Amino acid sequence: MDKKIKIRSCWLMTLLLFIATSLGASEKVLLVGIDGVQYERILALNTPAFDRLNLIKAYAGGVQWQKTQQRTVSGPGWSTIMTGVWKNKHNISSNTDGAANNNWPSIYRHIYNANPQAKIYGYSTWGPIHSQFFARDMEVLTAHAEGGSDDDNLNRTLNVLENDFPDFIFLHLDEPDAAGHSHGHGQAYDDSIVRSDRRLGLLLDAVAFREQQFSENWLVLVTTDHGRNLAGKGHGGQTKKEKTIFIASNKPLHYQYKNYTAVPNNSFDGLYKEPAQTYIVPTILNFLGIMTDDHWGLDGLPLIGPIEAKSIYVNIGGKQCGLEWDINAGTPMTISRNEHVAKFDCEGNADPMFIMGNKVYTNIHGSGCGLQWDVDKGTPLTLEENEHVAKFDCAGYADLMKIIGKEISATINDQICGFQWDADAGTPVTLGSNEHVAKFDCMGSADPITIK
Ligand SMILES: [Zn+2]
Repeated sequence: MDKKIKIRSCWLMTLLLFIATSLGASEKVLLVGIDGVQYERILALNTPAFDRLNLIKAYAGGVQWQKTQQRTVSGPGWSTIMTGVWKNKHNISSNTDGAANNNWPSIYRHIYNANPQAKIYGYSTWGPIHSQFFARDMEVLTAHAEGGSDDDNLNRTLNVLENDFPDFIFLHLDEPDAAGHSHGHGQAYDDSIVRSDRRLGLLLDAVAFREQQFSENWLVLVTTDHGRNLAGKGHGGQTKKEKTIFIASNKPLHYQYKNYTAVPNNSFDGLYKEPAQTYIVPTILNFLGIMTDDHWGLDGLPLIGPIEAKSIYVNIGGKQCGLEWDINAGTPMTISRNEHVAKFDCEGNADPMFIMGNKVYTNIHGSGCGLQWDVDKGTPLTLEENEHVAKFDCAGYADLMKIIGKEISATINDQICGFQWDADAGTPVTLGSNEHVAKFDCMGSADPITIK
């Protein structure tokens, strides 16, 4: 190489580095999706690239029999991975549905909204992720491709990692799913996973090189959309094997989420105590510093960063009563499919709550549900003129609360309303002798609460 050119290219790289670092944060994300990989086969096979990552079990398909349930097929699965919500929100229930629900943006759109200068790339061997579900988001991508082979899209990704300054890349690889459909479990399927592992190794090398070269901090996440049925040739049902997936990362993923689960049953050998594929988007947003409390309309939690589960208690007649959501669908207390009445239970434990900013959330059947006051006057749930029943809404966002010391209050129609338990036994809103409906009272003060 001519010395002059060498000096010039060195100068050019320094300039590019200067521009890249001056543009913003050094946090970058690579999300690799490998279609139809059975978690247990990664453990069983020699997969040196996966061995470089922290690998945890997770679940797909939502929570069975609940509104979050979705088929363990690619359309709903990738839509959940890209949006952080289940089918009841993203609206994709099969591989042939059109566009996903605009109200729940893809990770592409979230990153663009936070930083319109961000360089976002997407390469998807399975085309519908880009051409059907998130077609409208292609406009925010610096470059994208759909279809072709895994190696085509691997090479596109490596090229970007080696020659550009990407902020976010999503790469979808398809070979294991195709091998599974053709051959079921066996040598061909296992070989496809080993080849995927080699591709992953090249990506991890390219990321490691960038981290050394440009002092960038990369989050790498690897996941799959679904497991496989018994023979391995198909998938789509609600079996433990089809629902079991994985999340792998170059960063440590915390395990406290096991205490967050508010799914009452313990089906599939406790699989619901693992994180779900809804945790991918909150994890990425958190790492990039664009996670706000508003994002908890999402159905998952970040697997990195400081998130703590809290319990909220009040003292009723000398008893410690924990804040819970109402699990009994179909009772007069269930407002609608997406709403659950908040109550204080003086017999059992409190449900885990997440206090993020000035909002209170809980996880109900795999959904992120925000604490709200009930705006519908005249329903049997409105106690009287100045009282509003507290509820958890799993479709929308939480209402803004003021959480100061021992009190929670909300502003309702310009009035300050304190969070209280319902003392009036015998009203239609009293659930049982040991249960009290939580409410916001706009006349008096709030009841003192304890947050543990
Ligand atoms: Zn498939």
